[in-house]
This record gives sequence, structure tokens and C-alpha cells, in this order.
Amino acid sequence: MSIPFPIEDEEAAKVVERASRGEHRHVLVLTERPILAESEATSPNGVEHEESELRALLADAISEAAAHNGIDGEPEWIPDPEPEPQEYELCGVGVIAEIAQFRPSGSRHVVLQGIARGIVTELVQQDPYLVARVVRQDDPVDSTAEAEAAMTAVMEQVENYISMLPNVPEEVLTMVRGVEEPGWLADLIAFSPEFTSDQRQDLLEILDPVERLRRLSVLIQKRLDVLNLRQQIQTEAQAGMDKQQREYYLREQLRAIQKELGESGTEAAVASELREKIDAAGMPEEVKAKALVQVERLEQQHPFSPEIGVIRGYLDWLIELPWAVETEDRLDLTEAARVLSEDHYGLEKVKERILEFIAVRKLAGDRLRAPILCFVGPPGVGKTSLGRSIARAIDRNYVRMSLGGVRDEAEIRGHRRTYVGAMPGRVIKALKDAKSRNPVMVLDEIDKVGSDAFRGDPSSALLEVLDPEQNTTFSDHYLEVPFDLSKVIFITTANLLEPIPPALRDRMEIIEVSGYTEVEKMAIGRQFLLPKTLETHGLTPEQLTVTDDALRRLIREYTEESGVRNLEREIGSLCRKVARILAGDSPPSEIMVDAPQVSDYLGIPKYDYGLAEEQDEIGVATGAAVTSVGGDLLGIEVLIMPGKGDLILTGQLGDVMQESARAALSYARARTGDYGLAPDFFDRHNIHVHVPAGAIPKDGPSAGITMATALISALTGRQVRKDVAMTGEITLRGKVLPIGGLREKTVAAHRGGIKTFILPRRNAKDLAELPGVVRDGMELIQVDSLEQVLAAALLPKAQAGPVPVQVA
Ligand code: ADP
Repeated sequence: MSIPFPIEDEEAAKVVERASRGEHRHVLVLTERPILAESEATSPNGVEHEESELRALLADAISEAAAHNGIDGEPEWIPDPEPEPQEYELCGVGVIAEIAQFRPSGSRHVVLQGIARGIVTELVQQDPYLVARVVRQDDPVDSTAEAEAAMTAVMEQVENYISMLPNVPEEVLTMVRGVEEPGWLADLIAFSPEFTSDQRQDLLEILDPVERLRRLSVLIQKRLDVLNLRQQIQTEAQAGMDKQQREYYLREQLRAIQKELGESGTEAAVASELREKIDAAGMPEEVKAKALVQVERLEQQHPFSPEIGVIRGYLDWLIELPWAVETEDRLDLTEAARVLSEDHYGLEKVKERILEFIAVRKLAGDRLRAPILCFVGPPGVGKTSLGRSIARAIDRNYVRMSLGGVRDEAEIRGHRRTYVGAMPGRVIKALKDAKSRNPVMVLDEIDKVGSDAFRGDPSSALLEVLDPEQNTTFSDHYLEVPFDLSKVIFITTANLLEPIPPALRDRMEIIEVSGYTEVEKMAIGRQFLLPKTLETHGLTPEQLTVTDDALRRLIREYTEESGVRNLEREIGSLCRKVARILAGDSPPSEIMVDAPQVSDYLGIPKYDYGLAEEQDEIGVATGAAVTSVGGDLLGIEVLIMPGKGDLILTGQLGDVMQESARAALSYARARTGDYGLAPDFFDRHNIHVHVPAGAIPKDGPSAGITMATALISALTGRQVRKDVAMTGEITLRGKVLPIGGLREKTVAAHRGGIKTFILPRRNAKDLAELPGVVRDGMELIQVDSLEQVLAAALLPKAQAGPVPVQVA
């Protein structure tokens, strides 16, 4: 079985590098395990671990039951206590694996193919990497009756287990059933993500296949027990509902008995209380009339009628909606400006726009309908918190609803009351929470609204919510009476513009909030995130000092993002660790964190800073792309090999990108002679274009010049300069056309250590948008033609003739 394996540190990189040069390309994969304190070592086999597993499963089951009953939100759990820092030792048994795929420069993964168990007999060397003497241990061929019986038993358990899980593909069972050796069966099953790495290591260390199967069988049985328990909890949650209903009926019976005995006029009392509340709610006449009709219906119900609950529920909704509650706006521009800058650093254009918006409201009042602002940008740049800030600036109530993953129209607009358990949609729920009819309502992730042919289209319901022509009488299916949404200030947020349906996009004023540069992140961290996080953790600035170098290290080595969300999270972890020390026995009076101490608190860095290629290479060029999290660098590789003139494209390229590749190839073919290639060169060679970066969506024309550069480099044998990145669309004649997202792309290139950035001359107008550090930190070359790109990106030819390039 082959699996991709991350190369996490220098040591691993050296090992892989060395092994890939050797004859067998073998490495030994060894894990570490914590050295247990004596008391733990004697406690029976990880009780604590199982307990936390049970807790997690219980949490799952409860959330599911809650979702089933229409209750939102995660259950709250007391977090597990922080584990003590531990010491680790190397395990004695590992896996001998062959390096199946590895590209020496830049790659941070290697594909390994497991071969056999390896038992370490002696450690020969520690530095610069471990070298051990290893004995290869193959499973004995064993087809005893005992082995057969163990295999059958485990197979039964696996079938049983899989039948209890949703969505396990049929092939998994077929694959497991096809295994004939007991040892391999155990190893294959142990590879399933259901097992922890500790459990896998245990199994790895059991050399006898039958014994291994037995141990596996115990583990599977435990998981089966847990699954059974989970089902039991769900049934009990269901029973909980029944209990409520039972209580309800008992109460109704009591009411009937009381009535019989002439003991109270409860019915009349309830009805008159409802009428009072309806009067007080300030509903429009039409709604009020409808509500009063419902009260009458309630009075006519037989005491045992299930309708009573339904009608009461409906009336409660009507009564609790803020029909007439309106907060007064504070339209003070100076105060608003102060609040906005108190909450957010920078974002000048956005703040300016918000102040204009407040100014217009001040002068024109309600005459001018509020525009719907849509903040578009990568995660963590402050889109949602800006919404909250606007509410604070003009002193309105604030509510937020997330639209991510909403696929059902009824989630926006509610279910008709004829459905059992019907409820209003999210808009009406949000209004109830807002407690006023003129809140600032943030509709988060409007680009993630899905649609489903069978369940109606949520975006058409949203259109009605956001359209000033229609939203004065927004009607929810459950309420069946219109609610006037025209006083609500709607703010929407999105990561990307394209997925938003055009009709919705037209209703909104798009405001781009782009990613931050390092300098901006430093300022946000220092002036906003640190003070805020210190306060929430009960720390004072005197107790914890974080130096600039430490903050920069946090940004560079612990986060890789356009926004500051992870930075905020990492600062949070740092504060927690420090709080723990300060709350412990004999604490120091203050703690200072400088760059070197960051890893003491937060562990090894998560990211390499600087992502440019390590050396000038042939056939590899670096482009830049806009992604939902900002910008990213994108390597493009071209390999030429003997063949029949095919163009092979891999890396899940979209249609537009495939066309760019064809255009680049045609451009090059037209110049066969100029590159010193034989006229029939392209008939005798295949060209393979590959775009590796897995997580980047690959469509759009802007990789055109990057493809052409990689291709022509491969054809001419000229190396591409390692510190150059580029973006631009090409025409067949080699003209370079403008592209979008220049800011995101250049910021990503700058972050990645690129020194020269090539861009279309027709994007020159966008240069003013680029942050100063990016403009000063890189040479920006504007080009009109591919010739200019090549002149800037390719080094002069080192060898003669075309060189088929090996990019292993
Ligand atoms: P988004 O909605 O864009 O994903 P959020 O509004 O959730 O991002 O912001 C994430 C966090 O980062 C919030 O705590 C927010 O206060 C903080 N933040 C983002 N941008 C800024 C900024 N310019 N100044 C201060 N804090 C910021």
C-alpha cells in the first residue's frame, strides 16, 4: 500500500534525500511514544484514553439528537485537562518502506510503499539523522486452522461494524474479503482511520499474525460496543421527547378535571393573557386580527386536542417578534469613526464607506433605502466583525446568521405549519433574537448557499429578503403573515464573488476586504489581538510581554493565511500556556516571550517561511493564484519525453487552464525553428504539463504565461530563475493580457520569498492598490509580450540542444 508521507523537518529531508540516491531507496519509518510514568504504566491499558473517546462519542450523539429536535449549537463540554509535557522514546519496531515517489527540490511529501516490519537491533548513528541496524521481519506463511478461525472471526466483526456506519463504499469490504493471509488482513484493517496511531503501533509490534488478529479483534469489539451505546443514547433522546408529550397530556387532563370540578377558569385566564400580550406586541392590524382568530380557535379546542400545542407555539412566535420595537440610531460621525477605529486596524476604504453610509442616513433618513453591503475577502480579515462594529457605531442591535451549507429554501423561509414540528425560517428566528425590527443583520458566507432541485432554491428566498421592493412584506411559510424587513440593515460576507448567483450579486454593493501584509498583521497583533486576548485570559500587559520578534515568528512560522484568525488563535494558545504558569505554584511575577521562547510554548513551527523554489530549474515555473483564503504560489512543471506528440495535462486543471496549456503549446510549436528543434520534434515527443499544488482550484486564464515559460524552458533547456513568479494570460501570438487579483497574488509572492514578479502591463493601473512593502520588496516587471516574460524569467542557455528534463 502506498501512502503520501509529510517531510516535516530537516532530518527527515536528509534521510529521504540519501535513501532516494541509494540502490534500494529504503527507509525505516519509526514512531515515538511517550515514556509513561510508573503509575500510568501499571494502570490497565489506557483507561483515560477510552474515557475521552466515550466523551467524544457522547458529545456526537447528543449533538445529533439536538439537531434532530431542531436545537442549534454544540453542546458545551468542559475541555479535557491539558496533558503534562512528556518525554518520548523511539519504538523498537517500524516499517521498512520504499520511496515510491519523490521530487528532491521543494517537495514536502514523499510517497512511501510499505514492504515489511523492521526490528531495530542497534542504533548506529544519531546525527545528522538516525541510522539503525534493522532486521527485516516477514510474516510466516501460516494457514493453520487456528489462523483461519481467527480470520473468519475478524471478518465477521468488520462486516458487522461496516454495516453500522453510513457511507462506507462497497469496495472496502470487497478488498478486505479478498485477503488470504492472516497477517496482511490484520495490517490492512489496522490501516483504517478508526484506529489511533498508538493502537497501530501496538499491532505493528505483534509479530505473530494470529496473535495480531486476536488483539485487533478486541479493539474492534470495543468500537462495536461504543457504536451500540451510541445507538442506545439516541433512542433514549427520542424517549425524552415522548416524556415531554406525556407530561403535556397529563397537564391537559389535569386541566380538564379542574374544569369539571369548576375549580378554575384557567382557559379563560390563558386566553385573556394572550390577548393582552397581542395588544402589547404592537402588531400591524392584519396580523393582530389573525392572532386573535387563533386565540379563539384555542378556546374552542377540546382539552385533549394536540392542536393546542401547535396553536400556542404559533401565537408565542407572533407575540415575541419585535413588530414595533425600534432602537434609535446614533448618527454621530465622530463617535462612529471612533468606534470603527477602536475595533479594527486599517481597512480605511471600508471605514470610509461606512461613514458615508451613516452620513447619508443622517441627512436623508429613511427616504433612501440602505444599500446592502457585501464584504468579500479571505477568511479572518474582519468581515464579520466589521458588521458587529457597524452595529456598535450607530448603536443598533446586532444579529448574525450563517448561510454556509444552507441548501433548503425552508431554512430561510420556514416550514408550513401543516408539517409536524414546523418552525419559522432563520430570518424570522434572527429577528426574534435581535429584539428590534431594525437590527444590523449579518448574513455570513452568502457564497456558500447551495441549492437542491428537490428542496427549493434558498437563493431565491434570499433575493426576496434582500430586495427592497419585496422585503417590506417578507412572508415566512410558518408565520403566514408578512413582516417588514425594510428597516433592517443587511450586511453580507463572502470569501469569493463568483459563486454568488448574479441576481443576488446585483442587489449588493461589493466591498473588497483584501488580505493583510506582514506589517499590517504585526500592527493588528500588537494593537488589537494581543490586548484583547490578554484581557479575556485575565492577564495584564505587565504580566506578559511579547516582543516584536516573537510576534513576527508567530506570523511567519505558526500561521499561513491572508487574515489574522489563526494568529488570534495562536496568541490565545500562548496566553493560555502563560496563564497556566502564572496560576501555578510559586509563579514568576512576569513572563517575557521572545522569538526563541515561542516554540517552548507552542511546539515546533507549523510552516516553513519562504516557499520559493530552492534552485533554478528547467521546466518548472512559479505562478500565482487567487484562492478562497487569499493568494498562493503555484508551481507548474513540464516534462518532455519520447512519444507521439500528445499533450498530457494533469493536476485537475479546469477547462480554461487546459486551453491556456494548448495555447502555450501552439505558440511554442510555431517557433520550432527559433528554439533549434527539428521540424518533426513535436511528432516524436510527448509533452506533460502538471500543476501539483493540491488545494488550489485550478481554473482561469492567468496561468497562461507561467505554462508557456515552463514549456519553453523545457524545450530550450534554459533554467527558470528560482526567485521569479508571474501571472498573465497569453494569446496565440504571445501577447500578455491583464488578469484579476493582483494584490492577493503579489502579497502571496512576497510572503513566499519571491524577488521578481512579472505582470501584464495592462494591470499597471492596479499597482497603486499594492501594499508599500510589497511594491518596495519585489522588482515588479510589466510586460506586453511573452518574449519579455522569457527574457526576464529564463537564464541564458547552459547546454546545447533540447534537454528532456527529468523532474523525478
Ligand atoms: P472574517 O469574517 O473575515 O472571516 P472575522 O471578522 O471573524 O473574519 O475576524 C477574525 C478575527 O480577526 C476577529 O477577532 C477580528 O476582530 C480580527 N480582525 C480581523 N481584521 C482585523 C483588523 N483589521 N483589526 C483588528 N482585528 C481584526
